[in-house]
Amino acid sequence: MSDLDELYQSVILEHDRNPRNFRAIEGERQEAEGYNPLCGDRVKVMVRVEDGIVIDAAFQGSGCAISKASASLMTEAVRGKPVAEVEKMFTEFRDGMTGRNDQTTEGRTVLPPKLAVLGGVKRFPMRVKCATLAWHALHKALATNEQEAAGSQ
Ligand code: ZN
Repeated sequence: MSDLDELYQSVILEHDRNPRNFRAIEGERQEAEGYNPLCGDRVKVMVRVEDGIVIDAAFQGSGCAISKASASLMTEAVRGKPVAEVEKMFTEFRDGMTGRNDQTTEGRTVLPPKLAVLGGVKRFPMRVKCATLAWHALHKALATNEQEAAGSQ
């Protein structure tokens, strides 16, 4: 295992121990849940979107270190970003993890910079779902109640 892998692994473990934005969002929000039967990970992702900007993102749930760290990194990566940019990040991350855009430099997958620490997970196909679970839930949350949210204002 390279030093870089060890560094990445320590970031994942640190996010597992101290997940960022591990809480509920009260009031107006869009949310969706994800479940990964392969591992038993459950995650609920909540976002608050104002004027097309993700002003807050948070998650709750339980699961393995990878699923929790990925959700934690995700909430940090998307807060303050326009929805369109977040959707682009989702596509890049999903495709990067599943090998759909397998442009690798010396075997390294191209992932959005803030999410590159999860690149090592790709070598363990059973765990890829753990890493992408929160992102799929976020994608669903952003896609679903947009009209409901607008109607309740
Ligand atoms: Zn898992």
